[in-house]
Amino acid sequence: MFSNKTEFKELFLRRLELLHGKPFSDSSLREQYETLGNMVREYISEKWISTNEKYRSHHQKQVYYLSIEFLLGKLLGQNLLNLGIKDIVEEGLSELGVSLFDLENMEEDAGLGNGGLGRLAACFLDSLASLNLPGHGMGIRYKHGLFEQKIVDGYQVELPEQWLKYGNVWEIRKADEAVEVAYWGKVETSFENERLVFRHVDAEKILAVPYDIPIAGFQTDTVNTLRLWSAEPLPNVSCQDVLKYKRNTEIVSEFLYPDDTHEEGKILRLKQQYFLVSASLQSIVSSYRKLNKSMKDFHHHVAIHINDTHPVLAIPELMRIFIDQEGMGWDEAWEITTKTISYTNHTTLAEALEKWPIHIFKPLLPRIYMIVEEINERFCRDLWDIFPGEWDRITNMAIIAHGVIKMAHLAIVGSYSVNGVAKIHSEILKQREMRQFFEIFPEKFNNKTNGITHRRWLLKANPELSRLITDVIGSNWVYKPEQLMELKRHAYDPAIKEKFLQVKQTRKQILANIIYEQNGIKVDEHSIFDVQVKRLHEYKRQLLNVFHIMYLYNRIKEDSSFTIYPRTFIFGAKASPGYYYAKKVIKLINSLADKVNEDPFVSQMIKVIFLENYRVSLAEKIFPAADVSEQISTASKEASGTGNMKFMMNGALTLGTLDGANIEILEEVGEDNIFIFGLKAEEVLNYYENGGYRSTEYYHHDPRIRKVIDQLMNGFFPDVEDEFEPIYDSLLSHNDQYFVLRDFASYVEAQEKVEKAYQNQSSWLEKAIINIAHSGYFSSDRTIQEYAKDIWNISPVRNTL
Ligand SMILES: *Cc1c(COP(=O)(O)O)cnc(C)c1O
Repeated sequence: MFSNKTEFKELFLRRLELLHGKPFSDSSLREQYETLGNMVREYISEKWISTNEKYRSHHQKQVYYLSIEFLLGKLLGQNLLNLGIKDIVEEGLSELGVSLFDLENMEEDAGLGNGGLGRLAACFLDSLASLNLPGHGMGIRYKHGLFEQKIVDGYQVELPEQWLKYGNVWEIRKADEAVEVAYWGKVETSFENERLVFRHVDAEKILAVPYDIPIAGFQTDTVNTLRLWSAEPLPNVSCQDVLKYKRNTEIVSEFLYPDDTHEEGKILRLKQQYFLVSASLQSIVSSYRKLNKSMKDFHHHVAIHINDTHPVLAIPELMRIFIDQEGMGWDEAWEITTKTISYTNHTTLAEALEKWPIHIFKPLLPRIYMIVEEINERFCRDLWDIFPGEWDRITNMAIIAHGVIKMAHLAIVGSYSVNGVAKIHSEILKQREMRQFFEIFPEKFNNKTNGITHRRWLLKANPELSRLITDVIGSNWVYKPEQLMELKRHAYDPAIKEKFLQVKQTRKQILANIIYEQNGIKVDEHSIFDVQVKRLHEYKRQLLNVFHIMYLYNRIKEDSSFTIYPRTFIFGAKASPGYYYAKKVIKLINSLADKVNEDPFVSQMIKVIFLENYRVSLAEKIFPAADVSEQISTASKEASGTGNMKFMMNGALTLGTLDGANIEILEEVGEDNIFIFGLKAEEVLNYYENGGYRSTEYYHHDPRIRKVIDQLMNGFFPDVEDEFEPIYDSLLSHNDQYFVLRDFASYVEAQEKVEKAYQNQSSWLEKAIINIAHSGYFSSDRTIQEYAKDIWNISPVRNTL
């Protein structure tokens, strides 16, 4: 390959000509990007092959992380960084007159996820490889990832995302490892050689073709695999309507479902879930077979993790393979399956818990349904032994009841580990949502607080801050992020504070330029950058943020002596296309932005910016520039959050409720270095259980609230007459289920504290540095080491070339 700048340049020029059949001087940026991408993938390939050989020969336990989403973002920059060849490449290209930055921008984000859950999976892959752990991802190669968002007249418009339009340099199609996935048809049962045999006949089969993407660890020779499955028609299928068959097949991996908090119950989604699971398990079992070990030892060599319930059919599918293909009896198959599979719960929102109606499930997956039924019957029988006569309890806990299959129940019963994603979330699971399961399987429940890879979210996204940290404490933190704590000793050093300020200023200027390019608005780069970026959802309460800004607007208009420290409120959020209410909030943010930014007086103090198409690559520009991190979900609703961790790691201070990992951020940094407000989870849950909240009281008794709410309806926003009526109704007629009005006063007060604290620049900088120092705990390296030790029982395999 290449080991210095000169070799790189020579190879680059030669590869470009071979690949594109033209001289460098005639080549486009895209052709240059493709050339570089191919070179980097080939550079990785040597290590990839040797890692795989090592895994095969060492027979060490491997983990497979099954996830319906992987929100990877761009890969070129991360690969260059992890391989340690960024400087060679950057300098080499620069001598050819090419900017690496421009080439990185040619890559499309791999947006194969909605938000937190998919990004978590991507961070985990980076940590697994960087820690030399034998762990691989398996997912779906959606032809179209999450939609591209455009804002037109303040409304969200969705465009199909086209990340594969120019191909994908990182993937390798492995047609010879394709497997078949079977739907529909029926199950024939017969008695052969003294045992029951099940045959799935008249099935409609499709081909699952794997595309492998190498996942290179940071400064190590370990390269793991992300295997994404693509749905294709089987060759030589004889059927009446070939075109229809092709269409019905390819549609399975065509679109990512653009919602992670509502279960739609669509048959295509179930097809996708089984597609992922069946293809992945066949592939895992077939690799295991090549080791020539007994199937009885499967769980000693393989761990399979399911990221939320979307891949929960891994449980009956593994049973099917063991029983129908390996000839095992039920009890043995069940023992091995339940020692192989572990499960992460991501939410307690009732509307997000997956339930599949039997009338959809049973015809599509007849053999899988039989197995789920058998699991359910045996489980209910066990329950009867423990709780004889307690019909209600047994019906509540059953996997199948009232015509639906409860996927979370199947996940708990069929796995050996059930974890939540932050301390409070795991406690709510044990004490409330899953209490009855905790009572009978206490040993299964545990917590693994989420994390983020500091390599993407600090080292790559914020090179200026990374250099400063290394100047101050040396570079060990890069390998051991907990050593960021060394920074704490320097938090009070004026020279270091000054340098931190300069870095933050640089990053704010970069974001200000992006805002100007995209929105045509000049923001004051010395104002407080107050940021809320995340999916748009009622429970995340972008509305509370909006109401505070409306209140500030009103204050400024009413009282000419009222002044505030300049602030730029920045939003980024996609709403699920079918989520009517969330789209209203997007329109409201944009209407407010117009109102504020166009007012010559108000806009001297505050501005409101909505950045369209929030995604990983844009996020990498936003977090480094933030001063204030808005984490204002209704307490108990945000299982963990990971955006909160990215902000903290980049020196923004959290303004948040006691929800999800905010609580652990508070425990880390202490109450002087975070701004907490609002109802506690206990209080929210008690209101839900016992009533006692009346939103209209807050409307009537707080004139600030009344004014803001009235403005939704009284023509304050021109040309949008009834637009915000649904928001008005949800707050007053439907009693404000997310406690926006209840938490308003407390939020305003916290915002005033933020403003005051920011004006003491010296002390603000200390707080920011302390936040960075404590952010090491939230590296996904810590999270993954906990999974490896407590759940998966895997250990590092060193690959030395
Ligand atoms: C981190 C991240 C998320 C998750 O953000 P939360 O604030 O935890 O909801 C969503 N989308 C993108 C692009 C991210 O990078």
